[in-house]
Amino acid sequence: MPNRVHGLREPDRALGIVRICACIAALALGGCATAPPQVCSPLEWRPSPNHDQRSAQMIVLHQTEMESAEAALVTLQTRNPTGRVSAHYLIGDDGRLYQLVAESERAWHAGASRWGGVADLNSASIGIELDNDGVEPFSQAQIDTLLRLLDDITGRLDIPRHLVIGHGDIAPTRKRDPSALFPWKRLAEAGYGLWPRAVTAPVPSGFDPWAAMRLIGYDLRDPAAALRAFHRHYRGNEDEQWLPGDAEILYDLQQQLMEMPVMEMPATVP
Ligand SMILES: [Zn+2]
Repeated sequence: MPNRVHGLREPDRALGIVRICACIAALALGGCATAPPQVCSPLEWRPSPNHDQRSAQMIVLHQTEMESAEAALVTLQTRNPTGRVSAHYLIGDDGRLYQLVAESERAWHAGASRWGGVADLNSASIGIELDNDGVEPFSQAQIDTLLRLLDDITGRLDIPRHLVIGHGDIAPTRKRDPSALFPWKRLAEAGYGLWPRAVTAPVPSGFDPWAAMRLIGYDLRDPAAALRAFHRHYRGNEDEQWLPGDAEILYDLQQQLMEMPVMEMPATVP
């Protein structure tokens, strides 16, 4: 099953169009301070050493939906008929870890997506592909490697540990990975992702589950798709209607976010 790893547009070409349009707009306003010199002239280039590379703020998990890690590596390293794709890391079902893109660079794994106020997830995240065909369980060795990688990345890049999310969470109308079999609870037990506590407080009257969904980060423009993504992540199914127990989970997740120190709140809260 070739070419099934998450199709994307070609970001550089699209960005070039945006830059040129922005420059034209800036010229019309009488200035072009941020455009590249080769696009906007006259412009005086005064480089400053006071900068560094932008760093990721969250981690997005995927499944390859291919038959092997080797097949996925080919797709992630080559030009495909449906568009070029990549990820920073790939983990085989045997636990083997591959890196394809430097963490400081922008891999093409998220596509059209949104989480809270962030609409360009490729710029804001590290992408990790898991070698999985979409219907099989995730192996122990693979999850063990993932946990070691998360420990390493979140420590070095200072990414909040609860901001580990799925591709299906950020693109609910287009993507379903990782599948409902993914062990989010096990990740939470190791300290990653957001997960309801064992004992949850009673849900107060007037609680708005949609407001909690929005606070967590879900794009609500297609409510049924958002609920499907929420259920895949937290309930192990893909139901598109509210289920008994949803309110308790969402109220607890909302409370956890509200209890976090301000500096640890997700940058994506609208
Ligand atoms: Zn994906």
